[in-house]
Amino acid sequence: MKLVAVIFLFSLISVDLNPVSANFFPNISSIPASIIPNGSVWDAFGALHGCRRGVKSQGLASLKKYFQLFGYLNTSYDDFSDDFDEFLESAVKNYQLNFNLNQTGELDAPTLKHIVLPRCGNADIVNGSSTMRSGKSSSAYSANSTIHTVAHYSFFPNRPRWPAEKSQLTYAFAPENQLSDVVRGIFVKAFERWSEVTPLTFVETTTFNRADLRIGFFSGDHGDGEPFDGVLGTLAHAFSPPVGLLHFDGEENWVTDGNFLNGSPMSAVDLESVAVHEIGHLLGLGHSSVEDAIMYPTISSGIRKVELANDDIMGIQELYGSNPNYNGSGSTLNPLTPRGERDTSGAPTHGFALVFGLLSLLLFLV
Ligand SMILES: [Zn+2]
Ligand SMILES: [Zn+2]
Repeated sequence: MKLVAVIFLFSLISVDLNPVSANFFPNISSIPASIIPNGSVWDAFGALHGCRRGVKSQGLASLKKYFQLFGYLNTSYDDFSDDFDEFLESAVKNYQLNFNLNQTGELDAPTLKHIVLPRCGNADIVNGSSTMRSGKSSSAYSANSTIHTVAHYSFFPNRPRWPAEKSQLTYAFAPENQLSDVVRGIFVKAFERWSEVTPLTFVETTTFNRADLRIGFFSGDHGDGEPFDGVLGTLAHAFSPPVGLLHFDGEENWVTDGNFLNGSPMSAVDLESVAVHEIGHLLGLGHSSVEDAIMYPTISSGIRKVELANDDIMGIQELYGSNPNYNGSGSTLNPLTPRGERDTSGAPTHGFALVFGLLSLLLFLV
């Protein structure tokens, strides 16, 4: 039992590597021009325009790693040469299906334009079982809609959720981040989006290690096998129930006022938009191919998207049921939406999450 406790403590320590004082800006005009990058870590993929099966082109090896990261290439795939093989073609086709693009199997302009968008670090396809559109029949319809809407929400494998007896979930922030009241207030609003439509409630606690949901900003490799990549690229990731970890890339330029009306710098990312998406993962939702859904994986910089779409609401209510006070008419919160939309994310449901969850459970049993 002591060994279990020691292992658990070690895993806690390893997760806390590289905490950072994240870059928060009250508004877009407060981001200094000197730190605004020329582009994203994925911009180099633009040079692969026109590539298709059978060709060899420098940079395809990196693209294969990108597709493996997000679940489009199996974890056992290891041919990281610059050859465009049949596996990469299949990955491109599945990606195009998930993002509502023409399934050409080629790296055409619309596909590349999408690939370079900032996004959630969680995979779109988990453990080889498809989520999003590529894994769904088109026969899933909303039963209570006058217009038949194809549902594209998804869950993690085995549909993990928080148990029914735990309708109030606690959350806490990594103490090292020393977040301001403004930033904490953004999370209050982000949690409200989900509590408004479900029986779940969320309350902040200061005992970080005992909280159900543990939120932190980290830089680069932070001990969970999902390193962050600096400005843009992956923005954040979150783990499925009952792990409860939500990590943000501390090197992004996080904007807190939600106002992206004019001249947004390319690197500005709306914190609340990403928080709403990642909380969806914490509660058990995977990615959706519905572009208006909060659980759509990508978000452009300078975009705000904080309101749940019907697809999100149908998904979360399938897991938890509805809030008795929810009238089914969408958000009753005051949207701060000058130009409103778009978010991103994915879900590290990898070995670490499972091990971490099991260790947590073992410690609890001890
Ligand atoms: Zn992480
Ligand atoms: Zn995501």
